Amino acid sequence: MKKILVILLAAAMTVPFAACSAQQQSGNNSGQPETAAAQTETKSAQTETDRETIYQVALLQSLTQGYYDGIIKVSELKEHGDIGIGTFEGVNGEMIVLDGTVYQALGDGTVQEAADDKTVPFSNVTFFDKDGGAELSDINDVNALKEKLNAMVEENGKNLFYFVKMSGTFEKMNVRSEIKQEKPYKTLDKALETDQREFNYDNITGTVVALYCPDYMGGLNTPGWHFHFISDDKTKGGHLLDLQFAKATAEYDATPGFDMCLTDNGDFQKMELSKDVSDAIKKVETNEE
Ligand SMILES: [Zn+2]
Repeated sequence: MKKILVILLAAAMTVPFAACSAQQQSGNNSGQPETAAAQTETKSAQTETDRETIYQVALLQSLTQGYYDGIIKVSELKEHGDIGIGTFEGVNGEMIVLDGTVYQALGDGTVQEAADDKTVPFSNVTFFDKDGGAELSDINDVNALKEKLNAMVEENGKNLFYFVKMSGTFEKMNVRSEIKQEKPYKTLDKALETDQREFNYDNITGTVVALYCPDYMGGLNTPGWHFHFISDDKTKGGHLLDLQFAKATAEYDATPGFDMCLTDNGDFQKMELSKDVSDAIKKVETNEE
């Protein structure tokens, strides 16, 4: 038994991204071959669960502390969702996942489709199944948007996760991205001090992709809202700092499941992930001190 464990661990060390891939294998512990019917049943149950699960790569806390190495590939991330947010190895731009395509909004203001072999140090994705929505009007800043969306969440249940897809023409859109970092990596707030780039757009049509995490997620992510944006023509986008609009349509997917993917990488294992970095997270998410 011990020997098998050692072999498995050795395999996990030599195969990159093994920690996450292993979770995708079906759990037949009986030692008996599964029947075709049982296999089908397992597969459909798996599919059912995945659509209603927020899949998270690492922690916002590990990203904030400067762990920017890729943990899974874009191709693997797409198996877990068709909507999402995140970033890329070296925080090389902001990630927007929309309708199954992974976009990379780079520090120079351009947007490209991310290749399948790019890697991801932090992300949240799910499969979007609309549970409800609302027409929003006369929103003058991001805090007003949060208030409206909070009311929607309160009504439906504040202790679930939500992805929101909000489309419209935005009179003002303020987004940021950042220049790719080189090792040794700085913490995210330090990196953004010099390498954040902001972009302001007027009357831009596109989609805001938003994640809501419940209050109890303070140790693994950040409670409340995290917004990214991409234009309809897929040429502009980033992490949303502020916006203004007269009218937009928000649709939400309430999600009761949570799944997390970590790495056995030594640098990751040395991190003190219970350290309170909530002030640094607030700074990097909102530009506020
Ligand atoms: Zn972001």
